[in-house]
Amino acid sequence: GDATSPSMATTMSTKKKIAIMTSGGDSPGMNGVVRACVRMAIHMGCDAYCVYEGYEGLVQGGNLIRKMEWHDVRGWLSEGGTLIGTARCMAFYERPGRLTAAKNMILNGIDALIICGGDGSLTGADKFRAEWPSLIEELVTKGELKPEQVQRYKHLNIVGLVGSIDNDLSGTDATIGCYSALARICYAVDLIEATASSHSRAFVIEVMGRHCGWLALMAGVATGADFIFIPEKPSEDNWREEMCSIVRQHRDLGKRKTIVIIAEGALDKQGGKITPTMVKDLLADKDGLGLDTRITTLGHVQRGGTAVAYDRMLATLQGVEAVRAVLEATPETETCFIAITENKIIRKPLMEAVIDTQKVAKAIQRQDFDEAMALRDAEFSEQYKSFMMTTAVQLDTGIMLPEKERMRIGFINVGAPAGGMNAAVRAGVAYCMSRGHEALAIHNGFAGFARHHGDKPLGAVRPFDWLEIDGWASKGGSEIGTNRELPGESGMETIANLVELYEFDALFLIGGFEAFHAVAQLRKARDEYPSLCIPMTLLPATISNNVPGTEYSLGSDTCLNELVDYCDKIKQSASATRRRVFVIETQGGRSGYVATLGGLGVGASAVYTPEEGLGLDMLAADVRHLKEVFAKDKGQSRAGRLILINEKASKVYNAKLIADILRDEAHGRFESREGIPGHMQQGGVPSAMDRCRAVRLAIRCIQQLEKFGKNAHNRCKADPMSSTVIGIKGASVVFTPIKKLEDEETDWPNRRPKAAFWLGMKEIVDILGGRPRYIGPE
Ligand code: ATP
Repeated sequence: GDATSPSMATTMSTKKKIAIMTSGGDSPGMNGVVRACVRMAIHMGCDAYCVYEGYEGLVQGGNLIRKMEWHDVRGWLSEGGTLIGTARCMAFYERPGRLTAAKNMILNGIDALIICGGDGSLTGADKFRAEWPSLIEELVTKGELKPEQVQRYKHLNIVGLVGSIDNDLSGTDATIGCYSALARICYAVDLIEATASSHSRAFVIEVMGRHCGWLALMAGVATGADFIFIPEKPSEDNWREEMCSIVRQHRDLGKRKTIVIIAEGALDKQGGKITPTMVKDLLADKDGLGLDTRITTLGHVQRGGTAVAYDRMLATLQGVEAVRAVLEATPETETCFIAITENKIIRKPLMEAVIDTQKVAKAIQRQDFDEAMALRDAEFSEQYKSFMMTTAVQLDTGIMLPEKERMRIGFINVGAPAGGMNAAVRAGVAYCMSRGHEALAIHNGFAGFARHHGDKPLGAVRPFDWLEIDGWASKGGSEIGTNRELPGESGMETIANLVELYEFDALFLIGGFEAFHAVAQLRKARDEYPSLCIPMTLLPATISNNVPGTEYSLGSDTCLNELVDYCDKIKQSASATRRRVFVIETQGGRSGYVATLGGLGVGASAVYTPEEGLGLDMLAADVRHLKEVFAKDKGQSRAGRLILINEKASKVYNAKLIADILRDEAHGRFESREGIPGHMQQGGVPSAMDRCRAVRLAIRCIQQLEKFGKNAHNRCKADPMSSTVIGIKGASVVFTPIKKLEDEETDWPNRRPKAAFWLGMKEIVDILGGRPRYIGPE
């Protein structure tokens, strides 16, 4: 509202009160939700409340419903679990409990409730909402509340957020916390693999998921496990033979370790439980494989710890969206929850999601496993197929092509290494093998390809070896080598000749903006060199996430995790010593994506991007603001503050200079330092998300190349889809012709897409960081 409007006084007295609650099992990211909701509510001129201990707090009321101030949630983004507590509340299952809860809400004047929890919690919320009018009526009839007291609360304004490590709610691709849990699992499996390999052992690893196999499935995909057991998709009746035969084949090929991942709720086709011990006994059976086998149950470590960057982003953006939804709701609006589909955050009807989720559980109970799979999100079954295709390559998976349709496909990495490149190559090769294609590695990018032996260009090209690539699922860097050189620089004629010499039917490129540029050059050179009229597709992989045609590049998630880790540590050191502002320089080229999303993940006080630029006025405004903040700060928040600046945000101001300016201006009230994480941002081991997406997207890329098949010269000339970029755009995964991207969507001088989908997130970083709105030079 307008501050000068005459109705200001009345709006003030009837300030909306929004309460936030976490419920069910805790999950990493819940604190980020609370922080975002509290601050967004306050920003929107409302009072923010927290209901402590889940539904128990609503039922008990009193001290468990507390008003929250802006500074109460400082530093919460990096805390694990939920700081406002959660509990299983038996009373809320029954109407009398819910009646008391309704009364407490009204007595505290709560207008709206945001609930972050799993399917149980949201089922409870849905029931509460449906019952609300009758609860109010009962409270009045019984004389517990007066009619005028309930006047304002005729409708329950409720919004759900899905916080759960299981990723078990239908209608959303990811729940807040699931990628953090997956990260913990992958970390553990990576550790176990080393010892398994040393002793040539087998490990059966049990992960959480009583009714949902998402964690087990994705862990299998990310780590390249030999076999998985999930509730939704029991193996065939002969799962024993199936598992043993895959394990045996992998062993025959020389693999020294065996990893089987089993979800808590794993079932066989008859609905009988499959336990880790059953699997272990089978692997260890002297008359069979006779492997030295151990069981590791990961248990609660999966829930523990701080949230990964993705969960912080999800928690923050969804929390903000929940507050918006609450404020926009009318009595007619359908109750919603906040979902994410691919990269798009959307409101969806709560009731539908709850019903669909229950349907999955019922389908599993009925042993209608096809139905259970169908009810999971599209990505789930796609990843299941991906897993089967990439692990059981040596089996006849029934998708082998006839001889004459098999292609020779060149794999090439271009640009700087990024997390997930190797996982993508591995998955692409495995898929090729299962189809009968010949996958060939082109080493060290186009520079390597164009290398001369004597005066003859021979190229560094060789076939892949299964055993070698099988270990690449979790490897960082680029195993086949990568190089920034463009084909134009290497010599287009040489490249075209080599494509002909090696009889490539298709090219699969993985890389960043250089790779994008390379595909553009190859496409343009087709007129001159007919050998280049083969299908080619690019899977974007760069930490900068600046490739046109996609909102996500492999490696960008790994980078954000490294950056967020780094900033967490810096922040801790800052708060342990003195009041300090750290100015951190991030990578990202001329794209402010990394700086902005990093800022979102750590709660930065300011973020400087090349898109927005940085001038004297903006800097002065931020310096002034920080001085005010520290002046007001009575020591309740010793935690350090962070400013993130992209390496190319300004030609003049860099991290060091800004830190110096701040220190000079602070006059001893606070300190300032710069930090430059540099190449650390490329990451060591790629993140679970980058590994999983690498697998899924790489397989899609090869399938796209297959659409053109062999001898596609004429079709490639005519069809723009013969050279494409795969990308996640909004709610879908799409291939876009490179020609279209070149002409319409690329900001060539700045080497980034023209439109940055994340620009709106910058505003959210500013709002939640309490940064005053910068309106331009005075
Ligand atoms: P997770 O997926 O992590 O287990 P959850 O939200 O599914 O989380 P639950 O224990 O099922 O966890 O639910 C949390 C609380 O929500 C319950 O203790 C109860 O208070 C309330 N609740 C769950 N289901 C219902 C229901 N059908 N009716 C009323 N309240 C419910």
